[in-house]
Amino acid sequence: MIDYFKKLYAKSTTDFYKEVELNLKNKKKMFIITANPETFTYGINESAINKMLLDKEVTLIPDGIGIVKASHILNYKVKERITGVDLAEHLLKVCNENKYQLALLGAKEEVIEALKAKINKEYPNIKLVKVENGYVENKDKFFQELSHTNVDVCLVALGIPNQELLIYKHLNKFKKGIFVGVGGSFDVISGVKKRAPKIIQKLNLEWLYRLIKEPKRCKRFYQNNVKFIFKVKKLKKETRFK
Ligand code: UDP
Repeated sequence: MIDYFKKLYAKSTTDFYKEVELNLKNKKKMFIITANPETFTYGINESAINKMLLDKEVTLIPDGIGIVKASHILNYKVKERITGVDLAEHLLKVCNENKYQLALLGAKEEVIEALKAKINKEYPNIKLVKVENGYVENKDKFFQELSHTNVDVCLVALGIPNQELLIYKHLNKFKKGIFVGVGGSFDVISGVKKRAPKIIQKLNLEWLYRLIKEPKRCKRFYQNNVKFIFKVKKLKKETRFK
């Protein structure tokens, strides 16, 4: 697990956005994984995910506060959270300003329709090259067809780890493009679900807000976050004696 922390993007959100924008401008390819404790837990337990997280084509950014705190426990100087939902919104802005081509895969049909309507209204310069809800059976087809377009940004909202595994499977079909797994972001950006108020985000309590709003997440939260912190503390003890 320590290799994941070594690989985490450690600079500010502003720096990261600049790097992404430069890659877009220079037509470089980028696969961004927005990491939270669940992502790392998957990596520890599944070798295919471990390989993907450590692949040099992957940029790992600290999405969850659990990852930022764990990095500090292990003495890695990660600056701050860079969340998937903020990144997705920022990319919409950048795509609009530069007339970039965008593709969206994920979320329920009514959510993706609401998001499409919002993009057409608020980001009129974006060219939507492909849009699909996340419940179609054959999701490979989306990428096969997308590979024949000139896509600049592709956002995939299917939840961890399916969104990342799907992108990874098809990544070699593309010469350029920014590919990001953005979890529940479409629900929020479309306005269908509310994000925690700014003050709660600032207090790093967004996770608590989500648990209160969606109590069925509690089991998943315990399994991935509470156990994760114990693993990190154990890791800290082990590395201290090396
Ligand atoms: N989703 C999907 N297809 C599926 C399962 C999930 O499109 O087969 C969508 C779901 O509608 C939601 C997103 O994936 O928009 C996952 O959201 P969640 O909040 O669970 O993601 P997290 O950010 O916690 O990974």
